[in-house]
Amino acid sequence: MSSPEIPTGPGLDPGLYIVATPIGNLGDLSPRAADVLARADVVAVEDSRVTAGLLRHIGVKRPMIPYHDHNAEGVRPSLIARMATEAVALVSDAGTPLISDPGFKLVRDARAAGHLVVTIPGPCAAVAALTLAGLPTDRFLFLGFLPPKEKARADAIAEVAAVRATLVLYESGPRLAACLATLATVLGDREAAVTREITKKFEEAVTGTLATLAARYADAPPRGEIVIVVAPPGDAPPASVEDGDTALAEALTRLPAGQAASEVAKALGLDRKTLYARALAMKN
Ligand code: SAM
Repeated sequence: MSSPEIPTGPGLDPGLYIVATPIGNLGDLSPRAADVLARADVVAVEDSRVTAGLLRHIGVKRPMIPYHDHNAEGVRPSLIARMATEAVALVSDAGTPLISDPGFKLVRDARAAGHLVVTIPGPCAAVAALTLAGLPTDRFLFLGFLPPKEKARADAIAEVAAVRATLVLYESGPRLAACLATLATVLGDREAAVTREITKKFEEAVTGTLATLAARYADAPPRGEIVIVVAPPGDAPPASVEDGDTALAEALTRLPAGQAASEVAKALGLDRKTLYARALAMKN
């Protein structure tokens, strides 16, 4: 069944409108999203200061009701009741509501109450990161934010280690290196991308293996907002001589040359004899 057309009159039909907003670049607000925000009776928002800025950008003023993790249980029944006669728009601070943001219970309860539910899709950092990373996109698994504590994070990664899909994770700058290191330990040294500040002035996508990325960010936690994208198991491109040297240099800090060569050969699928020769050369 197709999604209902939004009427062009001054008011919207009563119901719930899920409105995606920009993840940095205000130019990414779609005309349809702006139209719905302008005509909604009320906008449910995570942070009214953030949404006030967006509404100012499109030159409208709408009543706002805070709806976030800390008040959702209390506010939801009254929002559901309002949907019987009013158009309620839901936005988050950035991107698509419900994606690592509040909203799914509001949609569930709106449906249960028989209200109209309409989506106005748009920016989402997870999908934008996939388009930048240069890793397979035919199957992907969105993990949101992993637990901050090392053991819980390792357990969460181990749960999905065998899934044949690209992994997409949200992470903060201060925790990035530790998260990459845990990913490398649990998943092996897969190809990955750290995408940062998407659609903003300093947008970048840094690619490499998980271990090289962990090393890169260990002493220099990046600023801004981050999405990590990790290649599926077995789909990593063959390791290069440089990858071998990097891993060997690290292994030689712990092991004699023969064992270091064996470990790296196994982990990266490289020739052991060649690695052993390089390990001896490095030692000398
Ligand atoms: N609902 C949002 C969406 O659709 O992407 C995600 C909200 S979640 C609370 C916020 C996280 O999304 C950030 O910590 C970061 O990991 C990611 N994120 C949001 N905007 C981003 C951007 N411009 N560049 C990179 N990552 C971003």
